[in-house]
Amino acid sequence: MDKDLRSMTRGEIAEVLAAMGQPAYRAGQIFSWMHEKAARNYDEMTNLPAALRARLAEELPLTCAEIRERQVSRDGTEKYLFAMPDGCLVESVLMRYKFGNSVCISSQVGCRMGCKFCASTLEGLERDLLPSEMLEQIYEIRRTTGEPVTHVVVMGTGEPMDNYENLVRFLRLLTDEKGMHLSRRAITVSTCGLPDGIRKLAGEGLPVNLALSLHAATDEKRRGIMPVANRYTIAELLEACKVYFEKTGRQITFEYALISGVNDAEEDVRQLAALAAPLHAHINLIPVNPVRERGYRHPQDRDVQAFKNKLEKSGVNVSIRRVMGRDIDGACGQLRHRRLHDEKQI
Ligand code: SAH
Repeated sequence: MDKDLRSMTRGEIAEVLAAMGQPAYRAGQIFSWMHEKAARNYDEMTNLPAALRARLAEELPLTCAEIRERQVSRDGTEKYLFAMPDGCLVESVLMRYKFGNSVCISSQVGCRMGCKFCASTLEGLERDLLPSEMLEQIYEIRRTTGEPVTHVVVMGTGEPMDNYENLVRFLRLLTDEKGMHLSRRAITVSTCGLPDGIRKLAGEGLPVNLALSLHAATDEKRRGIMPVANRYTIAELLEACKVYFEKTGRQITFEYALISGVNDAEEDVRQLAALAAPLHAHINLIPVNPVRERGYRHPQDRDVQAFKNKLEKSGVNVSIRRVMGRDIDGACGQLRHRRLHDEKQI
């Protein structure tokens, strides 16, 4: 991190510049160029002296995410495959809604959580992403489309709580009033459920929305599809969510990928409703995206609707995640997975 200026706070940048004999106000200028204006390089920072720009480029090179592939869906959704400076591939999605543009970013290269229905974890974890690399996914999409990004969801590849320090730093930079200044209410962090991380995040003074990937309403069933359930029980997770809700005041969302024949029975409805009630949690149903390697099928629309209706009858607040970008590589990790697969066959 010591050379990665885009991952540094304003205070840290001021220290680096002081050590270079530069006045303190330069830190603010550089911060604003990097984060508010999403500058790619020092040459764009026209209010800095040329000699300083050259020295910074030499000593603290600014890195960017480079677009390897961009797919645009008929519904306006765009999927990006980025290469990081070391060649690692990362994917992000831009979704256009009535309320604004939402970007879904990756927090790690690959993932080690091993969820059975998820393509992102098939090759395991390669490495964590730096705060600057999480930001760059958003900035490069801003630069490419020329449109503002109003919402950010950390729901791409990776488990954000497994890259905790970088995640929190990323969130602080994203919400910094001298940077993009995104509202904390416009940010959602999704986790497969690491209770220590959830509790810690509750105490950061960063009340972002929290989504818990529950996907099953009993520990036994959850263990069958999510290895992380062998480490933590649903009761432990809900306890951590309660702390999060109490400290931040943010409503918790349970993500529930509906998998035919696995978690869509009557008793699932009952058990799920019982878990959601005490927390007043919102349930987001996701018709599971088929992953060929895993053999899961896409549920019928009417089955998803029926599951939703039953939950609503039990008094639960439910939505169905809109399917976007079905004509491009839809689900998490599929674009990167296909690309890695193609490259291996060459
Ligand atoms: N690791 C984090 C964030 C990344 S996954 C988490 O687990 O929450 C983002 C969401 O997509 C999670 O709810 C995840 O379970 C879900 N997901 C992954 N693969 C999916 C698939 N094939 N179909 C539907 N949802 C999927």
